[in-house]
Amino acid sequence: MEYYDCFAASYANARAKFLKSAVATQKMVGGDVRSFVHPDKKAPDGGPLAIDVACFGNRKAARQALFISGTHGQEGFSGSAVQIGWMSRGGPSRLPPDTGVVMVHGLNPYGFAHFTRTTENNVDLNRNFIDRAGAAPTNQHYETLHGDLMIRQWTDAENARVDAAMARFTEAHGRDALFNTLASGQYLHPDGLMYGGKDREWSNRTLEAIVTETLGGAEKVAFIDWHTGIGDYGKPFFLCFNEAGGPLFARACDWWGKDNVDGVRPHGMERPNYTGLAFHGVQRFLGNREMCGAVIEFGTRGVNMRRVLRLDQWLRRQNGLDPDVRETLRADMMDAFCPFDGQWRMNTLASGLKLTDQAIAGLASW
Ligand SMILES: [Zn+2]
Repeated sequence: MEYYDCFAASYANARAKFLKSAVATQKMVGGDVRSFVHPDKKAPDGGPLAIDVACFGNRKAARQALFISGTHGQEGFSGSAVQIGWMSRGGPSRLPPDTGVVMVHGLNPYGFAHFTRTTENNVDLNRNFIDRAGAAPTNQHYETLHGDLMIRQWTDAENARVDAAMARFTEAHGRDALFNTLASGQYLHPDGLMYGGKDREWSNRTLEAIVTETLGGAEKVAFIDWHTGIGDYGKPFFLCFNEAGGPLFARACDWWGKDNVDGVRPHGMERPNYTGLAFHGVQRFLGNREMCGAVIEFGTRGVNMRRVLRLDQWLRRQNGLDPDVRETLRADMMDAFCPFDGQWRMNTLASGLKLTDQAIAGLASW
């Protein structure tokens, strides 16, 4: 198996590879494969958008793993490759007898297909899983920065203006506060960065349905949500949201190494107070049943991803942009979220397969 057998150049191709591999595996070892088709959105070519789910192993086992790709749309090319690689390399046939695996492919299929990080409503799905029973979290400093962060044209001068505003903010509040403001989530500006939405997205509600249907009997759940953009180039970076110092956090450290999981600083800064993550949502859907795991990122451009996130938001607001300009800028974004560099892809695929196996081994001995 070569890396290009697992990575794809479009959402449609990634989906086709995932389904082909899942159905072939199902023929050999059994399992369930099903699709949750988006009710009203389509891919740019008019093709369907769907969240595809493949389940293997003992569906009645108390120990289940949940592996998700594409929460951040375009970041899904990498997580999808790991899922496809795991099936192609016989992962399902090696599962310990008292375990099961649920793979969710393309949780945000709109973003995946349209080469953007956010959903059909420009919602950052990984900020959308807040508990809607209470008031939305506030992001005080975002209010003061929002106007300055909105780029009007994609020019060096405009980027310099936004950079200068961020530098002034850093001068006053520090770089950790800036990172928290930019990344933690905000719920008031639909055109802004990391907008968590005013309602639950279709992908959010569908994930709850998937958890209810596939993890109804699970008592212990291993969780990985695959992302890209944080960490050293081509290396995994762990964001474990189990309670720091608690037994589940310790378990994640056992699976993947304490040095990798505990006390790590994204881009060398304090971890933002992220709100509404899929991690939090699945925890809530599972009720009092235990879940252990992490968001796992693969590093690309480090802190320079800020400019790419800005580009993503700007492109979302452009209608009538010269098609070649759009294509050129999109290629830059694609390379930022999933580098074309074959070595990056080989390394992250190998790493993702190993981390998947470690989670399954950990689950089996839990
Ligand atoms: Zn992400």
